Amino acid sequence: MKKHIAVISGDGIGPDIVSEAVKTLERISSLYGHEFEFEYLLAGGASIDEYGVPLTQETLERAKSADSVLLGAVGGPKWDGLEGRLRPEKALLALRSGLGLFCNLRPALMYKALEDASPLKSSIIGEGIDIMIVRELTGGIYFGEKTLSSDSSWASDLMKYSVEEIERIARKAFDAARKRKKRVTSVDKANVLETSRLWRKVVSRVAEDYPDVELNHMYVDNAAMQLVRNPRQFDVIVTENMFGDILSDEASMITGSIGMLSSASLGSGKCGMYEPIHGSAPDIAGKNIANPIATILSAASMLRYSFDMDVEAKAIEDAVEKVVNAGWRTFDIAKEGEKYIGTKEMGEKIREVIE
Ligand code: NAD
Repeated sequence: MKKHIAVISGDGIGPDIVSEAVKTLERISSLYGHEFEFEYLLAGGASIDEYGVPLTQETLERAKSADSVLLGAVGGPKWDGLEGRLRPEKALLALRSGLGLFCNLRPALMYKALEDASPLKSSIIGEGIDIMIVRELTGGIYFGEKTLSSDSSWASDLMKYSVEEIERIARKAFDAARKRKKRVTSVDKANVLETSRLWRKVVSRVAEDYPDVELNHMYVDNAAMQLVRNPRQFDVIVTENMFGDILSDEASMITGSIGMLSSASLGSGKCGMYEPIHGSAPDIAGKNIANPIATILSAASMLRYSFDMDVEAKAIEDAVEKVVNAGWRTFDIAKEGEKYIGTKEMGEKIREVIE
C-alpha cells in the first residue's frame, strides 16, 4: 500500500542527514515492493526564512494528512536572536501537539564495537546496550498549573495524571515490548507521590492485557542508579514526563554517541514523528561529515511503529550494526587517528549491506 511520508529536513545538517534516510527508505521500497511518496515541507529556520513563522498552519495540515513525518533538526545561530514565539524550536512543539503525539520513544542503543565512546566500563556494557525509554510527553508536572505567589516568596507546579493518560502510554510501552524482549520496567516514585501510586495501579492493570510481557516496578532514584550499574537488565522503561526527560538523557549519555540515537513520537493513531535526538549541528552543516545513522534509524522506527514493517525495519537496523561492526565510521564516532567516511558514503554503505 502507498505510504505518504512528510519530510521536514529543517536546518543545519538536517538536509544532509535526511537525504540519506530518504534514500534508504527508497531502497527498502524497491527491495520489498512498497510505495513511499515523499512530500517535502518547511519548518524551523527554513520556514521562518520563507514564511516568517517557524510553522505555518498549512504545513501542519499537510503533516497531519501524511501517514508519518520524518524530521531532521531545526534551529541555528541565524535565528537565535528572535523572540520566543518565533524561534525555530516552536515548530517542534506545534507539530507534536498538532499531531497529538503523547508518547516519546527514545532507544538507547550501543553496539559493542563502539564501547570506547561510552563512559561505562566494558564489563558493564557486555555485548552492548539496547534499552527503549517510553516517556509520557504531554502530561505531568511540565503541563500542570504553575503558580508564583504575588510576593515571589513561593512557587508551585502541579503534577497531575488521569487514568486515561497513564493507560494510553502504558499500552504504547507494552506494544513496544512485544516487538522487543517482552519486558517492561515501569518507573515511578510511588513511595512519595500520589500520581505515582495511580500510575502503578493503572500500569499493573494494563499489564493484565499483555500476559506475554513481564512487568516490574522501580522507583526513579533506583532506576537512575541501575542505568549506570547494570543497564543490560532493562528492555523497555515506561515513565512519566519529567522522569522520562531525565532518564532518557542519562541513557543516551551511556551510549556515548549522539549521532547514533533516534527517537519517535507517537499518538493514538499510526502517524508518528521520527527524528534523531541531536540538533542541527550548524558547526558541521553542509560539509558531508555529519553522522546520518540516527536519522536512518529513525526511518527504521517509522517502518516499525507507523507502518508495521518489522522485517524492513530490522533490515535497516541490522545493516547499521554490520557497517559499524565492520569498522566504518563517521568522524564523530572515529577514534583519534582512525580513518572516517562522509555522510553520503555512510548512507551508501548501509544501503549496500541492506541489499
Ligand atoms: P547539536 O546536537 O546540534 O550539536 C551538539 C554537538 O554534537 C555539536 O558539536 C555537533 O557538531 C555534534 N553533532 C550533532 N549531531 C551530529 C551528527 N549527526 N553527526 C556528527 N556530529 C553531530 O546541539 P547544539 O549545538 O546544542 O544545538 C545546535 C542547534 O540545534 C541549536 O539551534 C539548537 O536549538 C538546535 N537543536 C534542535 C533540536 C531538534 O531539532 N530536535 C534538538 C537539539 C538542538
